[in-house]
Amino acid sequence: MLGTTVLDRHEIQTIVRRLASDINSDLPGRSPIFIGVLKGCVYFLTDLTRLLPQSVDVDFIQVSSYGASTTTSGSVVLVKDITADVRDRDIYLVEDIVDTGTTLNDVIRLLEARHPRSIQVVSLLSKPSRRQVEVDIAYLGTEIDDVFVVGYGLDHAEAYRNLPDIHELVLEPDGEPGGRVGAGGPR
Ligand code: 5GP
Repeated sequence: MLGTTVLDRHEIQTIVRRLASDINSDLPGRSPIFIGVLKGCVYFLTDLTRLLPQSVDVDFIQVSSYGASTTTSGSVVLVKDITADVRDRDIYLVEDIVDTGTTLNDVIRLLEARHPRSIQVVSLLSKPSRRQVEVDIAYLGTEIDDVFVVGYGLDHAEAYRNLPDIHELVLEPDGEPGGRVGAGGPR
């Protein structure tokens, strides 16, 4: 079941505005591209990029540690690749949360092989106490404790992504959530 609210919609909005302002002051004039790591990034990336006054390109990548795919890199499986050519471009890699760091580390290595000019990580959340692989987060929303959170793009078994606030999810002893907020409503 849903536990405490970790960040409500107003706090999220304040964080996203600050990040957009910070990114905007550093944005290079030439063709920056924002690459979101699906699916958790979607609400964050769309809110963030709409606050930037200049035109930026948007693309998406999806990786998984399991499932069917044809291409692998490191410990992740490439499920959906970007369509853009990123050679000599400035990449802003947008992630919902950095936990152990392995996903981002692998995605960065995958993109580095395509010779961009730069890659900077933008993450809404980070759990530093869980880190196994060091990741340089250039633009960070906020750190959180070692709790499992859902909402604003973050899911549990694909549920809860559409919640406007970010909540702690209290897992039952069997690893399953005790119940869904708004069950029966639109998802
Ligand atoms: P990492 O590779 O850094 O361990 O994990 C990154 C991914 O794990 C995130 O993109 C996210 O999909 C998932 N993840 C890690 N912590 C959480 C969490 O607290 N809530 C949710 N919903 N997903 C998480």
